[in-house]
Amino acid sequence: MSLMLTCREYAEITKASIKSLVEKTKKKPLLVIIQIDNDDASNRYTKWKKLDCDKTGIKCLHTKINSENYDEEDLITLIQSYDCDSNVHGIIIQLPIPKKYNLERLQNCISPIKDVDGFRRDSMHKPCTAQGIKDWLDANDYNLEGKEVVVLNRSKVVGKPFVDIAIESGATVTCCNSKTRFPELYMQKADLVVSAIGKPKFFDASDFDYGVEIVVDVGINEDANGNLCGDIDREDVITEYPNIYVTPVPGGVGLLTRTALLTNVMKAFFELEPDEINNIYEVN
Ligand code: NAP
Repeated sequence: MSLMLTCREYAEITKASIKSLVEKTKKKPLLVIIQIDNDDASNRYTKWKKLDCDKTGIKCLHTKINSENYDEEDLITLIQSYDCDSNVHGIIIQLPIPKKYNLERLQNCISPIKDVDGFRRDSMHKPCTAQGIKDWLDANDYNLEGKEVVVLNRSKVVGKPFVDIAIESGATVTCCNSKTRFPELYMQKADLVVSAIGKPKFFDASDFDYGVEIVVDVGINEDANGNLCGDIDREDVITEYPNIYVTPVPGGVGLLTRTALLTNVMKAFFELEPDEINNIYEVN
């Protein structure tokens, strides 16, 4: 299936339009990233998020704390101080965090509007990976209504929120997990497959069939040579089925997730600063 916009093109276009919006606002959106300790992956993800903010004009405050100096109550006090601050529009707690903290309790200290990661049950936002995939499909005019969708993952971060979005959009949805005996039987009949099993190149051409239109590869894994790869053996699938669009890793869903975070910050900003909408119209 040919698509109008790759993940990278979609991310670039969206960032450019956010930048031009932010240029017109008097007050600037501010995202707070709370990072606990010095996990490698967290350092990497935080760096990218700060870079995205820089490029779009969103202000970013990165607060990195040492877990030895903060018990849970101290951390809650810190989060609440940002949540009460009217200059702050979005707050995220970078994952993973040390096991000594109750993550859900911390996340629930962020108000539903400022919870731009979308992890609270009553958040105004949807989790960024699921939202980013949906936004990219929308940008490609790919309507989920009436589609057969298979989601390989049931986690709170990826699978469940995408299942919700697909159901809300009118798709027929099958959600597989590690106990599903023959996921390929569902995958072969699907229009859209979303895989986030976290196993390098686990699925290949033998797991798909001609009718499949799009495969969204969420997995971020390392292959035997230490190179970044997804859950799908992309080359094998597109060689056998050139009609199937498979998102690449890297350069795929990671960019959609990062873009959705920026979009959520902007939604929170306009919700909290309704006058800024008038400012944008005045500039125009
Ligand atoms: P997770 O909590 O470990 O979830 C993995 C899910 O895959 C589980 O639901 C598991 O089933 C299911 N699963 C495992 N093997 C399977 C199989 N053979 N068939 C069907 N389902 C299977 O991990 P996660 O946090 O959701 O992340 C998953 C992957 O996505 C990781 O590679 C992660 O790095 C990546 N990720 C990428 C992004 C991005 O922006 N690109 C964002 C988030 C996560 P059970 O529940 O039965 O164990």
